[in-house]
Amino acid sequence: MPIILEPTLENITRCAERLRAGLPVAFPTETVYGLACDARSEAAVAEVYRMKRRPSSNPLIAHVTDPAMAKRAVIGWDVRAQKLADAFWPGPLAIILSRRSDICALSVGGRTTVAVRSPAHPVALALISAFGHPLSAPSANRSGRVSPTTAQHVADEFAEIADLPILDGGPCDVGLESTVLDLSRARPMILRPGAIGASDLEPFVGAVATPGIMHQAGSPGTSASHYAPSTATELVTESDLAARLARATAPVAVVACAGTNVPPPHTLHALPRHAATYAQLLYATMRRADASGADTMLLVAPPERGALWDAALDRMRRAAARRPTTGA
Ligand code: AMP
Ligand code: MG
Repeated sequence: MPIILEPTLENITRCAERLRAGLPVAFPTETVYGLACDARSEAAVAEVYRMKRRPSSNPLIAHVTDPAMAKRAVIGWDVRAQKLADAFWPGPLAIILSRRSDICALSVGGRTTVAVRSPAHPVALALISAFGHPLSAPSANRSGRVSPTTAQHVADEFAEIADLPILDGGPCDVGLESTVLDLSRARPMILRPGAIGASDLEPFVGAVATPGIMHQAGSPGTSASHYAPSTATELVTESDLAARLARATAPVAVVACAGTNVPPPHTLHALPRHAATYAQLLYATMRRADASGADTMLLVAPPERGALWDAALDRMRRAAARRPTTGA
């Protein structure tokens, strides 16, 4: 069984020692919980890929305390990167630049680049600081499944892993993975949408490209099927919901905003109609609907547009995408 730990100074120090011994630690960030390891150690990184069953081509984000530590991970930390860090760090923005050899090649699937991010969570910053070096940390879930936003979610994901320490920092504030911005190319490009949108970034870096089809951007975690529940999942618009429910032959679990009309025998798993709390609760609500025993889960597309709503829609699309027969 994993061990859920209060984030005391003593426990954080112990976890940093464990990281030094090449062993993984689960920790809270403001986006989702992560599974951390020493970004410099191929052996430690290999263990995280193995635990997650993550394809080795899918790169990890290196988590740092601040720009000074980021500069130890990347080459070419320029004025744009500094402006972004000043504006958004610590926060849900990962910046891709050329990789220094200190960050092991295995952690980025052999790429010449690495994404760096400073997470806005005191426990995350304390752990990185106690360790003293960048921590590679993917979301603390099995590859392709719904990301964890509480310590208990992580314990559920890795139930059979003995002694995995999970620092409990409470429910995640943002609830969706970070925006990933590629600054290694001439024109900055968002590879994964998150709480920080193109219009937030443009004042600092100029025009930002936002490819419609994410998986064409060479960013594996953005492949079509990801964040997937075990229940068969479909994405519908609010206006199509009634017709879809009328066709159902068995009770359906519906994830939608509070107030959505979901007649019995179907069940509404309600989300607030407010972007920040909607994003915060989306994954926990999907997990609850997934565990409800329904044969089908319907995700109703968000009611509005905007960075957080769009990031939520992106994850819902991929949760509903048909799973590939191989790989991720
Ligand atoms: P996760 O660790 O689960 O939050 O996923 C991190 C995601 O960030 C990956 O799946 C990629 O989509 C993206 N990413 C991280 N590093 C890079 C990189 N060096 N090049 C391209 N995409 C990256
Ligand atoms: Mg992930």
